[in-house]
Amino acid sequence: MAKDEAKASDFSKGLLKSEELYKYILETSVYPREPEVLKELRNITHNHPQAGMATAPDAGQLMGMLLKLVNARKTIEVGVFTGYSLLLTALTLPEDGKVIAIDVNRDSYEIGLPVIKKVGVEHKIDFRESEALPALDELLNDKANEGGFDFAFVDADKVNYWNYHERLIRLIKVGGIIVYDNTLWGGSVAEPDSSTPEWRIEVKKATLELNKKLSADQRVQISQAALGDGITICRRLY
Ligand code: SAH
Ligand code: CA
Repeated sequence: MAKDEAKASDFSKGLLKSEELYKYILETSVYPREPEVLKELRNITHNHPQAGMATAPDAGQLMGMLLKLVNARKTIEVGVFTGYSLLLTALTLPEDGKVIAIDVNRDSYEIGLPVIKKVGVEHKIDFRESEALPALDELLNDKANEGGFDFAFVDADKVNYWNYHERLIRLIKVGGIIVYDNTLWGGSVAEPDSSTPEWRIEVKKATLELNKKLSADQRVQISQAALGDGITICRRLY
């Protein structure tokens, strides 16, 4: 296997003061401990035109830690793409664990599926090809699902994050965790609009709104971590 060097598309997500520092973190603390199959999936994804969407490996490393800390057995993922965060979750869950994985697009999930199958964790995955909102509402139709999940990772259409939050807060148990990805949106949240590229503006507005609302939401303890493209960790308090 080729030496595990940080590649250009990894840096699009770095928020640190230099690319060298991000490279240092990845190469010192993240890549040496990243399971071979996740590397494999990451390398397959590098050739995808939208490779930049995949979860940053440093954010993934924290996610693995959080899953273990809450002893996650039942989880929800919103936004699968080729499956980096999904495979990481499936590898971390116990044998009888389940992740409900929601994405409007099954094609990209299928890019990573051979790797998922090879490592024998497909039985932990319940993939649902759907818009996330109706899929979450469907879960809520069953009362038994209220408070029935330990963890959720949200990484799909950013403009809907607050709508997802209102549903996930009911699906996740008290003490459970919801992680939102890309909550610093390339650092644009702290820049004037004049320095923000046009394609980032809509999500930037939604992200500014989300971050304010999460900050004011007394139902959760939060931590805004500047890993990857920024992740916000929410722990349900009541
Ligand atoms: N977590 C993934 C990256 C997700 S990228 C990883 O680690 O690689 C965002 C994904 O969200 C895309 O695959 C896209 O198809 C999906 N998506 C976008 N809008 C959606 C929606 N409204 N409902 C469900 N999925 C959506
Ligand atoms: Ca993301």
